[in-house]
Amino acid sequence: MKRVAKADLPTKICPACNRPFAWRKKWARMWDEVRYCSERCRSDRSRKRRSADDGAAGEPPP
Ligand SMILES: [Zn+2]
Repeated sequence: MKRVAKADLPTKICPACNRPFAWRKKWARMWDEVRYCSERCRSDRSRKRRSADDGAAGEPPP
């Protein structure tokens, strides 16, 4: 049997830690704008250079 508990929630990949995260109730109204799994990742990301502003590759330079 399958459990459909969490499978129902939409998920995204956090570009900061490259981990999938699931929809949360607090993001209900802004899910489209949510990109990071947490504020920590968001601030951590903005700390770094903006050279890779596009963020397509995802992998930071060494
Ligand atoms: Zn993250």
